[in-house]
Amino acid sequence: MTELTALRRATDAEILLPGDAGYEEVRSVYAGAGDPAVIVRPSTPEQVAEALGLAREHGLPVSVRSGGHGANSFPNPGGLVIDMAAFDTVEVRGDGTVRVGTAATWGEVADALAPHGLVITSGDTREVGVGGIALGGGVGWLVRSVGLTVDVLEAVELVTVDGRCITASAASEPELFWALRGGGGNFGVATHFTFRPASLPAVVGGRIEVGFDDLAATLRAWRDAMRLAPDELSVTFLALPALPSGAPRTAQLLVCYAGDDEEAGRAAIAPLLELPGVTGSQIARRPYGELVASAAAPPPVPVVGGEGFADFDDEVVDAFASAVADYAGPAVASARYLGGAFSRIDPEATAFAIREAEVLLFRVAFLPPGTPPELAEAAEESWRPVRARTTGSYGNFVEASDPAHLARIYPPATLERLRAVKRAFDPENLLARNHNIV
Ligand SMILES: Cc1cc2nc3c(=O)[nH]c(=O)nc-3n(C[C@H](O)[C@H](O)[C@H](O)COP(=O)(O)OP(=O)(O)OC[C@H]3O[C@@H](n4cnc5c(N)ncnc54)[C@H](O)[C@@H]3O)c2cc1C
Repeated sequence: MTELTALRRATDAEILLPGDAGYEEVRSVYAGAGDPAVIVRPSTPEQVAEALGLAREHGLPVSVRSGGHGANSFPNPGGLVIDMAAFDTVEVRGDGTVRVGTAATWGEVADALAPHGLVITSGDTREVGVGGIALGGGVGWLVRSVGLTVDVLEAVELVTVDGRCITASAASEPELFWALRGGGGNFGVATHFTFRPASLPAVVGGRIEVGFDDLAATLRAWRDAMRLAPDELSVTFLALPALPSGAPRTAQLLVCYAGDDEEAGRAAIAPLLELPGVTGSQIARRPYGELVASAAAPPPVPVVGGEGFADFDDEVVDAFASAVADYAGPAVASARYLGGAFSRIDPEATAFAIREAEVLLFRVAFLPPGTPPELAEAAEESWRPVRARTTGSYGNFVEASDPAHLARIYPPATLERLRAVKRAFDPENLLARNHNIV
């Protein structure tokens, strides 16, 4: 199938095959090294349709690459990757909306909107792509003040598997629009998204450092403070491992007050500075884009991962604190406090249906070569009590190759509804390499 002449006849889009120089650069994604049979790099929606036609004709499962920067990115062995890199524009429109190409990164979006005093709620990492977040969720610095990225999505320009270029919005294809906001890449290939931005010339935020000594006490007091905090305040607890340079592991609260009134922001943040275990802080009024920071690439070693939504009751706090503070190996862990605008969205309004959880917990433990088996077992063991107390998963934090997670990502009624949309828009399941709804 992969004879270049046959492929060339089918599309004008750039085609990369194993051995081509560009293939090496694009074949892998954050989640792992890939060896797709062919990579197609369209630069127009029509060429996206041609790529889908090629895949159908040759029976190749499709994966779509926007930022390529996610746990749920798919390396797609033997399949056809549609690399959307050419769709990377950010356009502020006269009507106040922002139209963004799927392969722009959230760092690029923040930079482009800063001169306009605008922001789109997104993830907190610069390199993550628009496509994966806009179709999957988008939990970031403004989750309590504005909500998820899918909550500010107004329209999706999409190429369907049968080659139609359509726009899904509340007014046009509303059921598809519902499914696209949380249902991931199951229903077509998105080229552009229209968002409703927030006006936010600056935020008040930064980092509050905390110690590991009595982490459970710190986290409990943090939770209590968050239960009283204004919606403008979004805070994530983050623990990072020791560095090869010898720098010790760190724990911090990453803080964003979504307002440019420094006095109001500092007043909202003040209770956090009084928490037990605080050892320092760097809070300032700053552009939102400064908080959308680069994430270090993970070491290329096996990992033990865990994630889930939970109520942050004392049992969960204790289990999480113990998994983080007592585990002796290198690990990254986070607890994102939710509520506010995130929870006010009707669970049936978008396919991102888990809205009542108090926190989103995450941990990945790295197992470098030479890790003793007992430490690897301890990595599993320490997360088990947390896992037992979580009630659902955020799809964008879950590896796409694990179908068992589908029932954790979507409540039964949501999954049924998503299946109906899948049957209508991709009955042959051409878009199979994702959190596949079949
Ligand atoms: C370091 C790091 C930090 C992160 N931080 C956050 C965070 O703060 N908040 C948060 O919510 N998430 C975060 N994530 C997770 C992130 O939301 C997802 O992994 C996201 O899917 C990545 O999007 P992408 O476009 O870069 O990846 P891609 O691999 O390009 O896309 C991921 C999947 O989305 C689908 N998809 C992407 N584009 C399209 C399209 N145009 N049409 C159809 N389907 C498409 C495909 O199924 C694809 O496999 C983080 C991930 C990493 C690795």
